[in-house]
Amino acid sequence: MPLTVHQFPCLADNYGFLALDEASGLAACIDTPESGAILRELKALGWRLELILNTHWHPDHAGGNADVQAATGAKIVGPAEVTRISPVDREVRGGDFVMLGETRFEVIETGGHTLGHIAYHDADDAIAFVGDTLFALGCGRLFEGKPDQMWSSLQRLAALPDETTVYCAHEYTASNARFALSVDDSPALKARAEAVFAARERGQPTVPTTIALEKATNPFLRAPALAGRVGAAGRADHEAFAAVRAAKDLFKG
Ligand code: ZN
Ligand code: FE
Repeated sequence: MPLTVHQFPCLADNYGFLALDEASGLAACIDTPESGAILRELKALGWRLELILNTHWHPDHAGGNADVQAATGAKIVGPAEVTRISPVDREVRGGDFVMLGETRFEVIETGGHTLGHIAYHDADDAIAFVGDTLFALGCGRLFEGKPDQMWSSLQRLAALPDETTVYCAHEYTASNARFALSVDDSPALKARAEAVFAARERGQPTVPTTIALEKATNPFLRAPALAGRVGAAGRADHEAFAAVRAAKDLFKG
């Protein structure tokens, strides 16, 4: 039985996600950007919240834990770093499994944006919740980790099956696309950027994305191929990635 995902906007540019295990009727929310919006959507759907799955400790991801737990009794699952701002009922790390009814999520270690960041992968349904690690045409800023750690994390996600649906936590895609076009002139990127700009004009989300689409057009995953464009020709892959990340941090556009 499948996992059904309901996505809705929260705060300025976050997405909230509720996931229903159809077999058991149990639901999880991935991160808690905005407790009011999450509780409203839960009520409208009539879903019973069993789990809160945190990807990292940032307030726009774990800041609503206490309110959502108080209202629903859901158990909080997350990396140890979440205890900086919220109690956690079960600490998990890369390689662990989390069950929601019959749905099994594997925890993937994706440190870099924060040191303990994790992603949740449901292989049977080809769905991944990646928080602030991989974005559509982008990746998270390196607030805590080093480029080689983030590059390894992104490679773990890039190794998932091409058809995997990727739920990223922010709608940053139009500005990511403007940067991507500054370092990459591939036809695949140009076509995608046009589609992204058009979708945003219509007020439509550009999340979720897929692993195949990101491998083809995301300038961070394509860093080795773009090394010459960012002054990193001939360098190691993680150094090319570091150069693309540095260019994005400086990009005004
Ligand atoms: Zn974050
Ligand atoms: Fe965030």
